[in-house]
Amino acid sequence: MGPPGAGKGTQSRLLSDELGIAHYATGDILREARASGTELGREAARYMDAGELVPDEVVLGLIRERITEGEGRHGFVLDGFPRTVEQAEGLSEMLEEAGVELEAVLNLEVPEEELTRRLTGRRVCGACGEVFNVAFEPEIGAECPECGGTLNRRSDDEPQTVRRRLEVYEEQTAPVLDWYRDESDVPVVGIDGTGEIEDVHRRLREALEA
Ligand code: AMP
Repeated sequence: MGPPGAGKGTQSRLLSDELGIAHYATGDILREARASGTELGREAARYMDAGELVPDEVVLGLIRERITEGEGRHGFVLDGFPRTVEQAEGLSEMLEEAGVELEAVLNLEVPEEELTRRLTGRRVCGACGEVFNVAFEPEIGAECPECGGTLNRRSDDEPQTVRRRLEVYEEQTAPVLDWYRDESDVPVVGIDGTGEIEDVHRRLREALEA
């Protein structure tokens, strides 16, 4: 878990590769639905572009499919989910049905000023999906250094939408951490999310091993 721009996507992809387990990112699943032009994708796009959360029942349905039917039966990293207390409650019921236990809630902590800098500097390759950041690599231009595809700003990384996403995080997602602390046996571990990608990754691995 963590606010927008904390590094959830980058870090959870690294973890799932290294541990050889599934990676379920609701933001990625919603962007795929959107790109393929499905009814669900079109509905989700309206919320995403406004910086608001997609309704709980939609997101819960997408995750349920994966947890109960997918390769996730052998373990998974959840990225960007749950984002509301209702989603956390829904997840807990699903996991109980599937006979799976959460091992840890890892919360990436990054100051707000840094989040804004990261989000507005983020660029995504339209061809290969690789993510770059012009705030850290000013030499990055309009072309993907990996594949030559076109780099774009995510539509919800516009400054005005970023402000709203950070507010939504405080209002709706920060309470999920209290829910896990007060209502569950799952340990909530704060991780310093600042600095180099490799350093944050090492802190996550140490926290998981502990
Ligand atoms: P992300 O890629 O995690 O930053 O998510 C991008 C956008 O997708 C969010 O701003 C929401 O509009 C939507 N979204 C992703 N995950 C969820 C979720 N668990 N619940 C509701 N909306 C979500």
